[in-house]
Amino acid sequence: MKSFLPLNIRIDNKRILFVGGGKIALHKIKTVVQYTRNISIVSPEIQDELHQMGFTEIRKEYETSDLEGFFLVYACTSNLEVNRRIKNDAAAYGIMVNVVDNRELSDFISPAVIKQDEMTIAVSSNGENVKKAVAWRNTLKSIVQRGDFQGTCQSQGNELVKTTAEIGIPVPDLHKKGYVYIIGAGPGDPELLTIKAARVLCEADVILYDDLVSSDLVAQFSARKIYTGKRKDSHHFEQDAINKEILRHAQEGKIVARLKGGDPFIFGRGGEEIEVLREHGIGYEIIPGITAAHGASAYTEIPLTMRKVSSSVAFCTGHPVSKVQVPDTDTLVYYMVASTVHEVLDAVALKGRNDTTPVAIVQNATRYNQKIITGTLGELRKGDKQVNSPALLIIGDNIRHSIEDNWYSKKKKIVIAGEDFSHSGSAESVKIHFTCKRDGAGHTVGERDEPVDLNFIDEIYFSSPSCVSDFHTVYQAFPEKIRVKTADQATQEEYVKLFRAC
Ligand code: SAH
Repeated sequence: MKSFLPLNIRIDNKRILFVGGGKIALHKIKTVVQYTRNISIVSPEIQDELHQMGFTEIRKEYETSDLEGFFLVYACTSNLEVNRRIKNDAAAYGIMVNVVDNRELSDFISPAVIKQDEMTIAVSSNGENVKKAVAWRNTLKSIVQRGDFQGTCQSQGNELVKTTAEIGIPVPDLHKKGYVYIIGAGPGDPELLTIKAARVLCEADVILYDDLVSSDLVAQFSARKIYTGKRKDSHHFEQDAINKEILRHAQEGKIVARLKGGDPFIFGRGGEEIEVLREHGIGYEIIPGITAAHGASAYTEIPLTMRKVSSSVAFCTGHPVSKVQVPDTDTLVYYMVASTVHEVLDAVALKGRNDTTPVAIVQNATRYNQKIITGTLGELRKGDKQVNSPALLIIGDNIRHSIEDNWYSKKKKIVIAGEDFSHSGSAESVKIHFTCKRDGAGHTVGERDEPVDLNFIDEIYFSSPSCVSDFHTVYQAFPEKIRVKTADQATQEEYVKLFRAC
């Protein structure tokens, strides 16, 4: 069996050759360029995005003598015979070679990499299971890049070690019969996914996800994804159809991840779904999620209970109006209120709540576009404020008056267009990813990539010229207040050409 030893090889002042100038080479180069720009490409044709990266180009068919003076070679042509020839030539020169997607011919293989500043995490399956290595990498990336990872390391010691070990837990045999995980994805911020949920999503064959689950979050996992929400222009799944779909995949022996916004057991219909699984003898587990009330509470600084002010809290539904209840608790939280907020406030007032009781309506809690509307019960009953879904209504004396000025509102909201090459993570910012269609890694704009509301954005980072043009096809202009950063000169020029020309 071939074995590959993980090493960090010193690369400065050493030249690297890529034979091939297509998508395969681009994909590899995107990793290598994070460590060195001392790259040459031999190929009669070199694709646009690669060309724009500005490496030394030798536009011709490959010949043996091209290898002279290089330290490493990547054989990235789509022709196996040529790749074999490169392998043999390199052996004669004593140069190590990587033949793409062919570990038999390779002297070294490329791990799936996450790089942030001086830190690198490299995931390798010894070349045996690339899909799994990429899935692990993506999960680790979501943990590392989306958060203040340095903070996590400092405060929690070997957090990453624990995470890796968790991800490595082998899937039990019983999964061969099919198995369902009912998972809470949290209220929106992808970092609020639990480590257990991330591990299971990595191992899943199919993910059935709802409206409230962010597309950024599901995009990280390699499983087949089925959207079961109620988007206007797509097939509408009724709960019955969802139950059947979960059952069908489980009966085919798959690991099914049923991913829901918030917590599956708070207005999440998780109870109905496990009922069906019980009836059919399918094994399942439930992984709790952070419910919207907890997310909104933390991200707007509204404690749901507070000594001397609130000693009880109720989670209620605002829809349908006929089901609205007003329990006798200090704090009231209403879910599903976008179209019924006034009726709910009237019902609360009718129950005898004082008109001066503070009220907060939190839209898109924990997301970059979180918005808070505040007032007293009396004021908001009279007002005609437009409330957009998803929104929560919180009522109680525990709401301070200045909650708009909360810790989350102070974070810079940055759109990252393309790959996050040099834009390091920071505790001060929230990153929103814009996936470029032509990013070489085979990414395409996801099925339900909803447009970013640029009114909430402080900064945009473009990682390549083609990302600027992809972005331009979706947004022809953006608010003046947004700062723009670009990865290099070519990207800056493309930005000026497309957005600043007139
Ligand atoms: N299981 C979910 C609730 C699903 S019901 C949970 O535990 O959070 C859908 C309602 O949840 C929405 O109408 C809204 O009231 C609330 N909700 C979900 N995500 C939200 C968010 N990010 N911001 C505000 N409200 C949210």
